Amino acid sequence: MNTGSALQGNELSKENLTQLLSITGDDEMVLFGHAAKIKAESVGNTVYLRGLIEFSNICEKNCYYCGIRRDNSETHRYCLTDDEVLEAIRFAHENGFGSVAIQSGELSSDAFTRKIDFLLKEAMRITNGEIGITLSCGEQSEEVYRRWFESGAQRYLLRIESSSQELYEKIHPKNEVHSFKNRLDALERLKKCGYQVGTGVMIGLPFQTTEHLANDLLFMKQFDIDMCGMGPYIEHAHTPLYEHQSQLLPLQERFNLSLKMVALLRILMPDINIAATTALQTIEKNGRERAIQIGANVLMPNITPKHYRDDYFLYQNKPVSQHSNEDDLKFLEQQLKNIGHEIGYFRQGNSKHYKKTEK
Ligand code: SAH
Ligand code: SF4
Repeated sequence: MNTGSALQGNELSKENLTQLLSITGDDEMVLFGHAAKIKAESVGNTVYLRGLIEFSNICEKNCYYCGIRRDNSETHRYCLTDDEVLEAIRFAHENGFGSVAIQSGELSSDAFTRKIDFLLKEAMRITNGEIGITLSCGEQSEEVYRRWFESGAQRYLLRIESSSQELYEKIHPKNEVHSFKNRLDALERLKKCGYQVGTGVMIGLPFQTTEHLANDLLFMKQFDIDMCGMGPYIEHAHTPLYEHQSQLLPLQERFNLSLKMVALLRILMPDINIAATTALQTIEKNGRERAIQIGANVLMPNITPKHYRDDYFLYQNKPVSQHSNEDDLKFLEQQLKNIGHEIGYFRQGNSKHYKKTEK
């Protein structure tokens, strides 16, 4: 295949995408160069920040890949206090982050719904409605999604994890709580409520082929997402999927494949927001910056109070910074400057795609 000509066509077919996910060396450079050009033309060199608040690791679900799954008895469970969450939001607001992302294990209880609702209203109050808020709290009813939207959340991130039902069912328990259909329906509900909807997949899962990944890209395009967060799957010893560890691609290959996914998605959907995820940084120290160079335009620096971070281990070797949040931000700013990018301080950085297709 000629990479240059494969990229020139109007529509990237499943076959094209599958082949492009397998290229290496110089061909890979052609792909990355093309994606960088499209990114520069569509969303420019501004990187938007979302201060990541890992709100709670208490989860009702048992996804086979995740370190904070319900049955992992080795995990010490926590939930931030209201003050801790609001303090983190205040920090983000004062330091020009523009937005925060509140992520947690999945709970469907009145108490949880009310707590998130209260935090959203308080966040709006203490920042004069200036802070942008992304939620990533799993599958909820339409009523809950609507309530949170009305209280101030504008964006929601719910990864489809894999758009192949067959693969999805291999990485989740087979029951109603983990049903593929529920996941899809939840994405539809989010769209209906008016959120900027984000999804994504894990890359390098056991049983996953490049064809699966090509279909994932087409799924995102067809669903017409506004944002994406995707990154390498990284095994965790205290999870059921760990038994397939020997079949996994080497970490470096999972990393390269993830970069290619980001580049191809940028080509397919030039004006969406794409996050450079923490899992990339787990494999390569400057992994997030590399993703920024070839397509991503959002970063999610962790602003969870430090003493909780060891307990939010979705996967092994997740990086935990030893520096203050202020120092981390300065460092990030310099790293981005080195690659010709700047932080969009004090800007919410909403998805251009969403604005264009205003629902
Ligand atoms: N409970 C919510 C949000 C928290 S989990 C939800 O599941 O939607 C956030 C994301 O972490 C998941 O969507 C999953 O894609 C990712 N994740 C979990 N375990 C992982 C692993 N072992 N490697 C890489 N990513 C993982
Ligand atoms: Fe819970 Fe999300 Fe982890 Fe699944 S991926 S076990 S829902 S935190």
